[in-house]
Amino acid sequence: MKVPVLYGQGEMEGFRNEVEYISKKFSWNLSESWDGMADAEFPDTPDELKAELLSFLGPEEVDFSPEERYRHSLGKSSPEILMAKHGRITRIVDAVVFPKEERAQQILYDLLQHGFRATIYGGGTSVSGSLLLSGKEKTVSIDTRNFRKFIAKNHFAIVGSGLRGAEAERAANSNRLTLGNFPESFIHSTIGGWVATKATGQESNYYGGMENLTLGVKMETSGGILQDDLVPRESVGIQPRDLALGSDGRNGLITEVAMKTFPLPDGRYYNSRIYNSFYDGITSLSRMKIFPVVARLSDEKETEFALMGAGDSAALKLFRGYLKLRRHSKGSLLVIVNNNRAVLPVRKNSISTGSGPAKSWENGRYSRPGIANILWKSGLVPDTLETSATWENIWAVYAETRKAFYSFRQAKGFQGEIMAHLSHLYREGACIYFTFIIRGESELELLQELRDVLIRSFMANGGSATHHHGKGRFFLPYMDSLLLKAQESYSDPLLGGER
Ligand SMILES: Cc1cc2nc3c(=O)[nH]c(=O)nc-3n(C[C@H](O)[C@H](O)[C@H](O)COP(=O)(O)OP(=O)(O)OC[C@H]3O[C@@H](n4cnc5c(N)ncnc54)[C@H](O)[C@@H]3O)c2cc1C
Repeated sequence: MKVPVLYGQGEMEGFRNEVEYISKKFSWNLSESWDGMADAEFPDTPDELKAELLSFLGPEEVDFSPEERYRHSLGKSSPEILMAKHGRITRIVDAVVFPKEERAQQILYDLLQHGFRATIYGGGTSVSGSLLLSGKEKTVSIDTRNFRKFIAKNHFAIVGSGLRGAEAERAANSNRLTLGNFPESFIHSTIGGWVATKATGQESNYYGGMENLTLGVKMETSGGILQDDLVPRESVGIQPRDLALGSDGRNGLITEVAMKTFPLPDGRYYNSRIYNSFYDGITSLSRMKIFPVVARLSDEKETEFALMGAGDSAALKLFRGYLKLRRHSKGSLLVIVNNNRAVLPVRKNSISTGSGPAKSWENGRYSRPGIANILWKSGLVPDTLETSATWENIWAVYAETRKAFYSFRQAKGFQGEIMAHLSHLYREGACIYFTFIIRGESELELLQELRDVLIRSFMANGGSATHHHGKGRFFLPYMDSLLLKAQESYSDPLLGGER
């Protein structure tokens, strides 16, 4: 059985110009060597296990097909894609369960009584390894696709956890509202997944992350329902909301989320500048008193790919001519998008490059992962890691992590490049988002070692292990053991522990 494993495979294959530029620049031959499919041969669910599940589930509530079971047993991170490519996914769930809200509580209870473990699956876009299985116990995946309500209230909405971001936002827009969370995975990720990973979107400078946008949750556990009061704020110690945010599906099944809503903006304003260097750009951002809704500053290498790889239209040629004339062919591109009014960034050490680059960024904001799909199919390994650091530490985190990448490349002798951008700005600091592409022997082991080198570099220089990708299985080794123990003490007997 063949199963597609790339993010949005089949619908996201754009940005060929950028890919061609990358291939020319590094003399990488990009002929297709992999179709993005995994060979997934797994035995059928044993008859006795099927019978056991069907003793308390209706046939329409459960799927035993190997394809669905496989799809529900991994996310979209690069290590997981490589595991799938090389047949290294060794364990998949025994069944996928699709509860309706009114049955969720009973189903969780029954699963626990019958000695099952369970994972929860929203849109499957996890990049932290949180959907991978390791334990030997009988395990099902609970798919949230039937939790689909959207009820607009006064300045908030009750949103079914199984709605995908784009579906929920469409429902909000039909009421002239926005939910304000726009992760790059917006089309495929779900509201429940956003809460469980404490996700944050591209407009977080204004709206904040899920910790700011979530008023409350309704969460089913194997022991009963936890639900926040629908109030603007309360002071009752740890609330259901706090147990749900960043829980990785281990504390309960979130069925609905009370999310804040905001009026749709009256207008969007676009702007861009090229700074002499990434360093100058960072200095300018750190001095801004009010951050625009989106501010994304690319380092010199990412800027080069964005500007030089965008194609060869007459307009682009003219634009490049202008950059040459202004002696800014190389530099660091800042794109800015703001609601309702224009925002002017600090001008020192930079030139204006108009609204074009910001509009072009916005046009590709959800389809850009398509670049990765072409690279994957060409035998390269694209990956991303992100961190956050205070303004004091941010340059060291950036510079030392690049250094660590190139030292590791030299030591191991593989092909590879790394680039970064700054996004998600805070008064105290920002998120640095690294993208890297490698090609080498034993690619899974190589990638795992490299990721460890980079994450350790973040932490050694004052950064976090991750800013928004969630803790999952991959980031556990970097967590304080006391903190992990405290977090695990809240986990549900059905959903937590080894599985
Ligand atoms: C191309 C790409 C771009 C991305 N961009 C961003 C970004 O800009 N910002 C960002 O923050 N993240 C981003 N991510 C990461 C990912 O999209 C987020 O972590 C997202 O919130 C996961 O949502 P999901 O519905 O896909 O959850 P899943 O992948 O299905 O699950 C993720 C975790 O949440 C748990 N979970 C899911 N639903 C529920 C529920 N209803 N109740 C309890 N637990 C649940 C699962 O058990 C699992 O542990 C990106 C990922 C990809 C592949």
